[in-house]
Amino acid sequence: MNATSPPVIGIIGGGQLGRMMALEAPRLSLKIRCLDANGADSPCGRYSEAGCVEGGLKDEAKLLELAKGCNVITMEIEHVSVPALATLESQGVTVRPSSNTIRIIQDKYVQKDHFARNGVALGRYMDCPGKEEVRKAIGLFGLPLMLKSRKEGYDGRGNAVVRTLSDVDSKFDELYNAGKSGGVYCEGWVDFVDELAVMVVKGANGDVKSYPTVTAIQRDSVCRVVVAPARCSREARLKAEEVARKAISSLGDGAVGIFGVELFLTREGDVLLNEVAPRPHNTGHYTQDACAVSQFENHLRAVAGMELGDTSMCVGAAAMVNVLGCGEMRETLKVNDLALGMERATVHWYGKSPAKKGRKMGHVNVTADSESELQTNLKILLDAVGLPEE
Ligand code: ATP
Ligand code: MG
Ligand code: MG
Repeated sequence: MNATSPPVIGIIGGGQLGRMMALEAPRLSLKIRCLDANGADSPCGRYSEAGCVEGGLKDEAKLLELAKGCNVITMEIEHVSVPALATLESQGVTVRPSSNTIRIIQDKYVQKDHFARNGVALGRYMDCPGKEEVRKAIGLFGLPLMLKSRKEGYDGRGNAVVRTLSDVDSKFDELYNAGKSGGVYCEGWVDFVDELAVMVVKGANGDVKSYPTVTAIQRDSVCRVVVAPARCSREARLKAEEVARKAISSLGDGAVGIFGVELFLTREGDVLLNEVAPRPHNTGHYTQDACAVSQFENHLRAVAGMELGDTSMCVGAAAMVNVLGCGEMRETLKVNDLALGMERATVHWYGKSPAKKGRKMGHVNVTADSESELQTNLKILLDAVGLPEE
């Protein structure tokens, strides 16, 4: 690498999040290199100007190969090997966010403990090394109780709801074995009125900026729709941004990059942190078309050590609708045809196939001058993806 060649960012993982980073990189005069099991044929691999490494995301030798020729290593997924990241760091590779940040976030119980110690508002939680502790938690927090795998969870896989005492054995075994086994912990049930989310970006110089709070609509624990700004009081929106910034600031110097902060808004108007993702996040996709600088660009700026960009919205309102595979490509692409003909709508496809049922295939962003003006197009899109009641 010489002083005039563009810096190279290595991404662990070559899925859609990496791809959307890669699509932003040339404008910043950055190059992408990625590690993925599908190498150059992954959604990000096809846009990796500095090449790809084909291999497992937790394979230390492959990570070292990725790091060769990169100025900094980042990731699009938190389910990576913390010891392997630490090895890279010990060899002088810059990893952003750092192995210690990933260590805290990757284990949801450690994450909760970290945020609790740092005064971030949370629901109740308890470690459950065995079934006895689950029964004890029911005594303390009541039913239903949310059991979660400490590690490797996503899209609700790794969560199980205990509704009666007789559920305890089967739900515990199911999670314990599925998590293979990073262990299990539980959370008291949060009776939320809405799920909110805030993207926060932290620069290498310690600057912290947040994007506006959004409403995240989930179905079966999968994010389906995001509305920005959030459909709640201004007070709740500001509180959510404050909680999110406090959480990310508490992670320390190594926490460089973009973070997705998922939150609950309770009936009483409290904002509680659910979980943090140390990477671009589905609830931040709207920023591509609604904000001055997108979450992907800001992530690249942060990890490359550049100044952070403007996180404010440059439109009055926006929504993002996820397009999930419905088993058949042509059927899945129908939303595409609809969105292509729609004013102020943009399509973002991830280049995945086949269109397996429930697989995240792409998303549509739609913007408007106001929330009321957003409604017509949003309703058409929601009907098209089978969410007519929203
Ligand atoms: P992601 O795909 O966002 O990483 P995940 O698998 O890590 O999801 P969580 O975010 O922990 O799972 O939970 C998934 C969903 O389950 C939440 O978005 C929320 O709807 C519900 N949920 C999680 N925790 C609780 C809780 N303590 N009380 C009530 N509902 C909850
Ligand atoms: Mg999660
Ligand atoms: Mg979640």
